Amino acid sequence: MDLFEPEAHELFDKHGIPVGRYRVVSTAEEARAAAEEIGGRVVVKAQVKTGGRGKAGGVKLASDPADAAGKADDILGMNIKGHTVGKVLIGEASTVVDEYYIALLLDRSNRSFLAMASRHGGVEIEQVAAENPDALARVPVDPIHGLDRETAFRLCAEARLPDAVRDKASDILIKLWDVFSKEDATLVEINPLAELTDGSLRALDGKVSLDDDASFRQNGHASFLDITATDPLEARAAAKGLNYVKLDGEVGIIGNGAGLVMSTLDVVAYAGEALTNERGGGVKAANFLDIGGGASAEVMANGLEIILGDPAVKSVLVNVFGGITACDAVANGIVQALGSLQGNGKTIDKPLVVRLDGNNAAEGRRILGEAALAGVLSAETMDGAASLAAELASKGV
Ligand code: GDP
Ligand code: MN
Repeated sequence: MDLFEPEAHELFDKHGIPVGRYRVVSTAEEARAAAEEIGGRVVVKAQVKTGGRGKAGGVKLASDPADAAGKADDILGMNIKGHTVGKVLIGEASTVVDEYYIALLLDRSNRSFLAMASRHGGVEIEQVAAENPDALARVPVDPIHGLDRETAFRLCAEARLPDAVRDKASDILIKLWDVFSKEDATLVEINPLAELTDGSLRALDGKVSLDDDASFRQNGHASFLDITATDPLEARAAAKGLNYVKLDGEVGIIGNGAGLVMSTLDVVAYAGEALTNERGGGVKAANFLDIGGGASAEVMANGLEIILGDPAVKSVLVNVFGGITACDAVANGIVQALGSLQGNGKTIDKPLVVRLDGNNAAEGRRILGEAALAGVLSAETMDGAASLAAELASKGV
């Protein structure tokens, strides 16, 4: 998960990296009040999760509160690389003497951590690296040992940071390592790390990507979840621990195993191509949902509830290849899941095509046949199931 700038600032501040005072606001009036509270000159910055805001006109200095309100008004609503600006940060303006770059990241290709520094901060670092590779110094960091002072100082020297700032920059690098390792990040970047008139250093910008696989041990990060950027169905599915991705088609998909679900998407798209719905295009999968090897009634019910709750879904395809969890257990799961959904007052008004194959498939089909659930159809093959589900979806509900 990528963090917004103030969230990155919060983590920097927690680990002792200097950041200026700031407020986040969403109207010009609030911008005026924030600028008054901070006092003096302020910087008004678009809050979008993309770099290059400065170049796009999303970072502006303001001389007083009225100016801050005007600049906020200009920046709010702006579109920066496809992101609409809904909030701006009002920050204490810094008088900048020079700008540097420092970062720590997980270097997957070298299977190690990497510390990087450059004396050419502020501009896009990809450009620096492309035009003048020597200007971006890199030092691997041992994950067990961490970033020590000696290594940090060597990096600052290799990056040819001015002598007078090497000590301070090394200090900040060590603190940045704390952010990186203690907060379970995969990337932490300060660009620019600004040198101010009094010789001190301050992080003017912050980019942090957190490792989602470590979220279980980072309870403090829960507030960073960007609900607005997540599809509401995906957010609900995530809350239930489901492996769900919303897509833009009409056939809801449930399968066991990521590979099977991926190929189900393809088969449905292929079947959909062969049809023509009222919009003149082929129907496609409405989502990816892998219920995994267990495929219990509870997981099936949770999955069906999410998929049936999607207004775009016109039919549902359950594609299960019985393995360790046999098809009879899956069939019982479907029967129980539909029963419990109906018990909770949910009407199931969309047709459900079920294809069971593999371990105990015949028994699974028998259970479904015996239950004779309204709207539930059985299909023998994956292709047959996909064609049927696509056809039902193209007819609409
Ligand atoms: P980015 O363009 O998205 O990377 O946004 P930044 O936060 O890095 O801001 C872009 C540029 O604006 C920086 O490189 C600085 O040159 C400038 N900038 C940002 N904050 C201040 C400030 O407080 N004072 C001054 N003088 N310049 C600033
Ligand atoms: Mn920047």
